[in-house]
Amino acid sequence: MLNVEGLNAWYGQAQALFDVSLTVGEGELVVIQGLNGAGKSTLLQSLIGIGPRAQGRITWHNEPIQAWPAHRRAKAGLGFVAEDRRLFTALSVKENLWIASPSGASPSAQATPAQRFDRVMALFPQLQTMLHRPASQMSGGEQQMLALARTLMTGPRLLLLDEPCEGIAPVLVAAMRDALLQLAREGVAMLVAEQNNILAGHAQRVLVLTSGHVNAPA
Ligand code: ATP
Repeated sequence: MLNVEGLNAWYGQAQALFDVSLTVGEGELVVIQGLNGAGKSTLLQSLIGIGPRAQGRITWHNEPIQAWPAHRRAKAGLGFVAEDRRLFTALSVKENLWIASPSGASPSAQATPAQRFDRVMALFPQLQTMLHRPASQMSGGEQQMLALARTLMTGPRLLLLDEPCEGIAPVLVAAMRDALLQLAREGVAMLVAEQNNILAGHAQRVLVLTSGHVNAPA
């Protein structure tokens, strides 16, 4: 469903990705490992259209999307959760969730916004207990859950997750891992950047990025 061939990316003159190729098939979990600065965030950001200058071929369901702006990629089903979460910190949990789904269900949507809301509440019962709390008053792990839940409100077909279990309390790491594996069982495809081996053991494929180069076959 997502196919990347020969992706190169540059920050100014500095090249950050070198000929990266990978695929994520329907319902697959693919993990990207790599040290700090290896290029994991740059890769995910390039795929959703918010990266630096890039060249290469990116197809989504066989359609080239590398020239598409980020909002079009999102609408086509690419959902992204950044490492820094990017929540609306002054808004409540509930407001953060509904702001991602403002326009009601389109006739072709697989689920209504209300159904998506119920689904994320079932996936993250912790959020149910703090619906009216401002995001600024949540722990890092709770914020990470909210960021994922907000992206799920958009009904993505592929989730691109940047270090979803990094820097959060162990009990929340387990909850996050279980939620992601539940989503994988439900058929949501995922491309996950991680350094901490939380999901790698469950992945169909693990790619290793080293200084912008992929070291393992896609
Ligand atoms: P981390 O886990 O530390 O975020 P990463 O694997 O996600 O690491 P990237 O953040 O993608 O790596 O960084 C890849 C390379 O690009 C690094 O050499 C980094 O210094 C550089 N880089 C990242 N963002 C920028 C930027 N905005 N401007 C210039 N160089 C950047």
